[in-house]
Amino acid sequence: MTKKVVIASNNAHKVEEIKTALSFEGWEYQTMAEAGIVSSPEETGATFEENARIKARAVYDITHTAVLADDSGLIVDALDGAPGVYSSRYSGIEGDDEVNNAKLLEEMRNVPENERTARFACVLVFIDDDGTETVAEGFIEGRIGHEEKGAEGFGYDPLFWPEYFDYSCTLAEVPQSEKNKISHRGNALRELKKYLSNS
Ligand code: IMP
Repeated sequence: MTKKVVIASNNAHKVEEIKTALSFEGWEYQTMAEAGIVSSPEETGATFEENARIKARAVYDITHTAVLADDSGLIVDALDGAPGVYSSRYSGIEGDDEVNNAKLLEEMRNVPENERTARFACVLVFIDDDGTETVAEGFIEGRIGHEEKGAEGFGYDPLFWPEYFDYSCTLAEVPQSEKNKISHRGNALRELKKYLSNS
């Protein structure tokens, strides 16, 4: 039997990453548009987990099908963890990657190389059709660069130099399939897969 799982995100990049990295026999993903719903609740949580839950519950309350929501962001050590849960609206304009990146570069202008450490975090909240919830998280470590490089991915990818590749490229120079193998979202999806396989 097919199980419908609605991805509670309006971000096409996230949807693509989720579809590529988390597959289960019989699961059929639907975007919110495909499910015929509109949902963009205010993300008032103080943590990624709270915000992911807000997004997942908002959709579940409409569809009562299984739902998967992701909240993610960039944590920069030299900025005391900013932009964090405000990653998508760091500049004040929701979802404008270009101005968000420009603001990050400006804030990091005088930060020396060895203090430019950062990580992406992703928390996934999966609500099954019976309302039970499973939470998983993932991270990727790296450093913030001095200018944008690369055209793949989205968000802060062109400024993020993963430790995994010995800081030899940005995340925006890594093809999607490779990004999934090492990214915060890929790691969170693998953890979620483990939990759901064992439940
Ligand atoms: P959300 O949609 O509220 O979870 O906000 C996520 C924001 O964090 C995005 O708009 C990006 O700015 C940033 N972000 C999250 N994941 C990634 C990623 O994989 N690459 C680059 N930026 C990301």
